[in-house]
Amino acid sequence: MSAIIMDGKALSEKIREKVKARSAVLAGRGITPCLAVILVGEDPASLSYVNSKEKALAAAGMESRDIRLPADTAEDALLLLIGGLNRDEKVHGILVQLPLPKHISEEKVISAIAPEKDVDCFHPVSVGNMMLGRQGFLPCTPAGVLALLREYNIPVSGSHAVVVGRSNIVGKPLANLLIRRELNATVTVCHTGTKDLARYTLEADILIAAAGMPGVIKPDMVKEGATVIDVGVNRVEDASAKKGYRICGDVDIAVAEKAGYITPVPGGVGPMTIAMLLENVALAAERVKERS
Ligand code: NAP
Repeated sequence: MSAIIMDGKALSEKIREKVKARSAVLAGRGITPCLAVILVGEDPASLSYVNSKEKALAAAGMESRDIRLPADTAEDALLLLIGGLNRDEKVHGILVQLPLPKHISEEKVISAIAPEKDVDCFHPVSVGNMMLGRQGFLPCTPAGVLALLREYNIPVSGSHAVVVGRSNIVGKPLANLLIRRELNATVTVCHTGTKDLARYTLEADILIAAAGMPGVIKPDMVKEGATVIDVGVNRVEDASAKKGYRICGDVDIAVAEKAGYITPVPGGVGPMTIAMLLENVALAAERVKERS
């Protein structure tokens, strides 16, 4: 049996249409949702991420304030810039593309962003609000995973969800969201300290791979009929590909023969992350309107 493909591209397009309609309502009230997008340096992967975000913002009727800084930008200068954007009423969200050059503290930079403009949900206050279930933003990739589970009516309540990876941007927040009372999953989190990974993954009704290790999840590690969400985006060398590499996930493609539902890479979680970012920018602009 072949798994049903969870089409993140199609769902993200639907979400982007809805966001566009929200932008139009805001525009009618004289507000253009605006995200400041800061890129320090010229890392090609970061540049390509930033370009896709800016394109998506424009297509959703939003403005992006594109800020490109040289790799040797001083930390103080970046912090000053963020302070200015925090005070700028025309800017509703601030995104600093990571990773930053080594001489700049990511922790300091993230903490400098005003939580009400922290559409990535990386600021400690945003993370705390999310953990406590208070008003704030949901982090984009975890929110995208949850939206996919909702769209395909995957039963989450009472399920055993196994998350492979404990990063601050994917694994930890996902595990935290899945145990919310309204989602009600029982969650196991695995990492490099986990002995016998398969022992846990085989127990998963919902298996979420966010390890950044190409093909680490093999068919014999997955329960028949499980829902498998592949967050991984890995570049692997491929001489037959035009660019000399191809993108693959953390899940071996043969898992599709065993899973009930599966996300493809590309076209699964990736486009959902951008769609959720747009939702957060719309939300940030709407909240400003509510407060005024
Ligand atoms: P990360 O910060 O490198 O974290 C990876 C996590 O996976 C760590 O907790 C690590 O454990 C764990 N891990 C690594 N190898 C493992 C193994 N063999 N067995 C068990 N656990 C293992 O990565 P991330 O930022 O969370 O990203 C994960 C993947 O998702 C990457 O491929 C990234 O490119 C992708 N990603 C995709 C999107 C999207 O929009 N699609 C967004 C964000 C990230 P330790 O903590 O013990 O080191």
